[in-house]
Amino acid sequence: MFSRPFRQSHRDENLFSTRRENFLNAKRKLSQHEEKIFCEEKCRIIALFLVLHGSSFCFLSPEEKNILTTKKKKTHYKYNVCKLFVKFVGEKHKTYIFIIFTDMKKYNFSAGPSILPQEVMKATAEACKDFNGIGLSLMEMSHRSKDWQAVMDETDALFKEVLQIPAGYSVVLLGGGASMQFCMVPYNLLEKKAAYLNTGVWAKKALKEAKLFGEVVEVASSADANYTFIPKDYVVPADADYFHITTNNTIYGTEIRKDLDSPVPLVADMSSDIFSRPVDVSKYGMIYGGAQKNLAMAGVTFVIVKDELLGKVSRTIPTMLDYRTHIDKGSMFNTPPVVPIYSAYQTLKWIKASGGTEEMERRALRRADLLYGEIDRNRLFVGTANEEDRSLMNICFVLKDEYKELEKDFFDFATARGMVGIKGHRSVGGFRASCYNAMTVEGVQALVDAMRDFEKEH
Ligand code: PLP
Repeated sequence: MFSRPFRQSHRDENLFSTRRENFLNAKRKLSQHEEKIFCEEKCRIIALFLVLHGSSFCFLSPEEKNILTTKKKKTHYKYNVCKLFVKFVGEKHKTYIFIIFTDMKKYNFSAGPSILPQEVMKATAEACKDFNGIGLSLMEMSHRSKDWQAVMDETDALFKEVLQIPAGYSVVLLGGGASMQFCMVPYNLLEKKAAYLNTGVWAKKALKEAKLFGEVVEVASSADANYTFIPKDYVVPADADYFHITTNNTIYGTEIRKDLDSPVPLVADMSSDIFSRPVDVSKYGMIYGGAQKNLAMAGVTFVIVKDELLGKVSRTIPTMLDYRTHIDKGSMFNTPPVVPIYSAYQTLKWIKASGGTEEMERRALRRADLLYGEIDRNRLFVGTANEEDRSLMNICFVLKDEYKELEKDFFDFATARGMVGIKGHRSVGGFRASCYNAMTVEGVQALVDAMRDFEKEH
């Protein structure tokens, strides 16, 4: 199962050697391992045995179970942290600590960086050890090599295929995060005036940057209602250079789920809902986003841009901030973030093999139906976003006023059942279950079960 580090000899000073009095330190190391185990060995029943022999100790794998269970037990405590049981068994000069990690599956509801398909993480980790069997790690190989160029070409082709990007658009992969796009967009597109829809903190940050480059019209805002809805009644000035929207408001759990009609080029931050549904790219001038939700590990940013929009502003654009630089050089004007790009490449393959964006949308609807259904049914909880604007990706809910004091209890309750990252953003409070593409129905069901059981107890 997990042999090497856990079977390592107790004589191996590097790994686990410690003095008896440093027991606390040892426990800290142990808990680090606990995390590692859960990362690598999710959903398995794991048994570990820690044996303290005076000043050193070792881990033994489950197969050695019998060796320990035959020992005479003198004292016996049960120590339960996230289903981790520790039994202290004292003998004259030895202490045995018997630890069983029970089947503790973790469900990652983090808003980002967030859950990715297991296949993607495995393939990326594999490539980091040995890329395609060439004897070099992805981390050390030249981005000018033929092998890497093939990955870039395939990633570009897959991106266009999966999103059905029409001719006349380019895809570039950059560093800097979506936040860098908040300034790159106006740098490249804003000559005189731009229109922005203010639907949350990220939209507001984008708007703030644009003001450095020209006049900005905030066409509508839901700030007064703590961004619980998407404004609908607004007019986009026909003389604006572009109209900027944030399709999914990660913090507040609201989403624009259809491709809007806009009188001017539509620019969308799709950081947290890209690839969750089919998108009619032809309706957009530009789509961008950080990759760390539905696409890849953090470190790469995608930009889909209609080529004809570029080169129209009169200002001089620094080379690195000019989209044309990156289009001309195939996203390799400078050294690209190879590992994040490789994980994006793997995710694109996974989406395609899973049935594409149509299937991603079907799964998202199923997950959302399940969770929103429970939020609406459950006596204790209430959703925070306007019903018609509810996001399929970030599902926000709080305890009803009369049960507010149970917030920490529910958090602990859900955490003990394996939920990770469900704490709501501080500006909304309560809980946020981010249900990106890789989240399974089983994961959402586990959360729903926790909500039901918690309700029964209160
Ligand atoms: N836009 C949206 C909708 C986001 O959710 C985030 C981050 O969560 C950002 C922008 C900022 O992304 P980055 O951290 O890649 O700059």
